[in-house]
Amino acid sequence: MYYLMYMSRIRGRVCIQIDREKCKDCGHCIKACKKGVFVFKDGEVVVENGDACNGCRKCGQVCVYNAIYISLKNEEAAVDG
Ligand code: SF4
Ligand code: SF4
Repeated sequence: MYYLMYMSRIRGRVCIQIDREKCKDCGHCIKACKKGVFVFKDGEVVVENGDACNGCRKCGQVCVYNAIYISLKNEEAAVDG
């Protein structure tokens, strides 16, 4: 219950970034994200709809290359990575 409330509260405040040096464009994050945040563009996985992110962290869990960084907008500290 608290987890759902947390995800609702931070929606629109999450900054999702892909480290292009680490990303292998495997597409696992696209499949894992139910909010359609990631898409393939010109052969690369990019963040297309970052404002839809609810901070569930599933993308970070499936990225074995640790290429996804999740932080709160206007805050320095990463909450995942
Ligand atoms: S799961 Fe990680 S390595 Fe794979 S496309 Fe997404 S960010 Fe890139
Ligand atoms: S944290 Fe969740 S909603 Fe946000 S991009 Fe990752 S999988 Fe999608």
